[in-house]
Amino acid sequence: MKVLFATTVFCFFFFVNYAQQKPILLKHVTIIDGNGGKPLADADVLIKGDSFAGIGKNLEADNAVIKDMTSKTIMPALISGHSHTGNITGTQSNAANYTRDNLLHHLKRYEQYGVGALLCMGTDRPLIFNGFRDSSVAGLLPGARMYSAGFGFGMPGNPPAAAFGINHTFTSGTDPEIEKQVAVLAKLKPSFVKIWVDDFGGSNKKMPEDIYRIIIKEAHKHGLRVASHVYYLEDAHKLIDAGVDVLAHSVRDKEVDDALLKKMKEKNIVYIPTLTREIFEFIYAENPAWINDDFFKAALEPGVYEMLTSPEYINNIKNSPGYVRNKKGLEIAIKNLKKIYEAGIMVVMGTDSGATPARAEGFAEHLELELMVSAGLTPLQAITISTKNAAKFLSCNKDYGTIETGRKADFIVLSGNPEKNILNTRNIEVVWKNGEEVKH
Ligand SMILES: [Zn+2]
Repeated sequence: MKVLFATTVFCFFFFVNYAQQKPILLKHVTIIDGNGGKPLADADVLIKGDSFAGIGKNLEADNAVIKDMTSKTIMPALISGHSHTGNITGTQSNAANYTRDNLLHHLKRYEQYGVGALLCMGTDRPLIFNGFRDSSVAGLLPGARMYSAGFGFGMPGNPPAAAFGINHTFTSGTDPEIEKQVAVLAKLKPSFVKIWVDDFGGSNKKMPEDIYRIIIKEAHKHGLRVASHVYYLEDAHKLIDAGVDVLAHSVRDKEVDDALLKKMKEKNIVYIPTLTREIFEFIYAENPAWINDDFFKAALEPGVYEMLTSPEYINNIKNSPGYVRNKKGLEIAIKNLKKIYEAGIMVVMGTDSGATPARAEGFAEHLELELMVSAGLTPLQAITISTKNAAKFLSCNKDYGTIETGRKADFIVLSGNPEKNILNTRNIEVVWKNGEEVKH
């Protein structure tokens, strides 16, 4: 009875809220709708309740609140197809930081940067499956909408998985635990199953093919798609042959070959370049142009800016065995993105933001746009990858990812037009969610 009563009040509250809300009419705005076509200049947008109710020229609506948007551009809220959230506090990243309050803190930050939704790629813990994830996706909690790949599968001591306290490991392809663990994960209704297939520069044992073959098979039995961390071209080939659905990072050791492009196209493989992940591994040693920008600094936890700019941190990067490898990896990844995009393969924006304090949440997604453009894509192509394609990837494209009549009004208002300069995605005036301006 109590539960029923609470539900009634809850629904009534939302009903009243939307019913009292006047329509909103944005006038004279430039629209980048996420579909990739030429932006619509001097257009009007009508918002009713939480959705777009009309888009065109000279729109009118009774009782509407009119906002003059001359010189402003709007675009759909960004969606990251590969992030990790809830694990960072200050300069530390670990499983103990993963609390409800910390998740909300980070999701709000993403939202301030115009990231309307993200997929947390395999580092989630039970607390989000008790309503948190579904409430977040429905927009009932503050911040970016949080989709989840639940807990991923790696190898014992696997660097990323172990850092987040994710320790589901298997001994071989005949280990009965595979079937059991995938079944447990399936009950949580994750958006994807995440696996890590990498030797991390030779520091860790790579997941053998017989194990990931069975994980993929079991996941598919439950109707779940599998996204793999990947580094090597050879593994990309083997993973696709084993039925993987998503390459969740760039191929970084070699340029992709025609055989891989053919396979990816035929099997509708999704490719998430995470170029930002590569650059964050070495760029702090090279005094990047944005290091003192407030737009960057505001994305960091307390103490992180001081850490990243300290001589000790910079020396550690320069002397790390991965320094040259990471730089080279980014160069190859940039070439591969261009090849893969031009082959007509579905590319989705992802960053690996939030995995470490150096991978600045929110800022990373704008840097990824810039890097995609540096790879030779147009700003509008990079935006579509980061909105429409990402929404399709998360199966939420009926509601999000484009500015179209009937879609939910999650969008960003910019004071510059990114079609001309992709850096203009950083000139955020205000972020809208569910048809309302977000106030922090
Ligand atoms: Zn990741």
